[in-house]
Amino acid sequence: MARYIGAVCRMCRRAGEKLYFKGDRCFTEKCGVERRKYPPGQHGQGRSKLSDYGIQLMEKQKVRKPYGLMEVQFRKYFHEAERRKGITGETLLQLLECRLDNVVYRMGFSANRRQARQLIRHGHFLVNGSRVNVPSYIIKENDVVEVKESSREIPSVQESLEKAGHRGLPAWLETDAANFKGKVLHVPSREEIQLPVQEQLIVELYSK
Ligand code: SF4
Repeated sequence: MARYIGAVCRMCRRAGEKLYFKGDRCFTEKCGVERRKYPPGQHGQGRSKLSDYGIQLMEKQKVRKPYGLMEVQFRKYFHEAERRKGITGETLLQLLECRLDNVVYRMGFSANRRQARQLIRHGHFLVNGSRVNVPSYIIKENDVVEVKESSREIPSVQESLEKAGHRGLPAWLETDAANFKGKVLHVPSREEIQLPVQEQLIVELYSK
């Protein structure tokens, strides 16, 4: 499946905010936003004012890219959110946050979502005891996610678990690192999704 493979730190610098693509590196002084607090490119330090459309587009990219989605996939999530009851922008974020690759990352089993996708595709995770190798699988309340027993020695998984502490565990999840397991306590509320984005602007963008 197609994926964005460009320089991801440029996206954070363009947005002017940390979007946390690189996992642990994002929490160090090596972070691109910390080192260069201006947009990328030759004219990055010049003045630039975004149009209303530009601002809406930026908000969309701030959501779409961290979750590693192409435009077509993202639009499908948006239509699904529109179809469901509730506030469309909030439902969109909840759907994305409940993707298995995101949950694996949030639980600390991988350093970032990209690595989570790879581990899931290679069949290293179980959901409620059954192997799931689809990163877009949507988890539900009370689902238990665990690293397959034969995969618990994978160095990247162990390293991620050791370093995951400083990221903090969201209140909607609980983990048992010693047993390589985690549980989804509930679907996250908007307040529990730590994404610096105005999702209403995404709804406005797609409603044109
Ligand atoms: Fe963004 Fe992380 Fe790169 Fe910092 S290190 S600019 S948060 S991807």
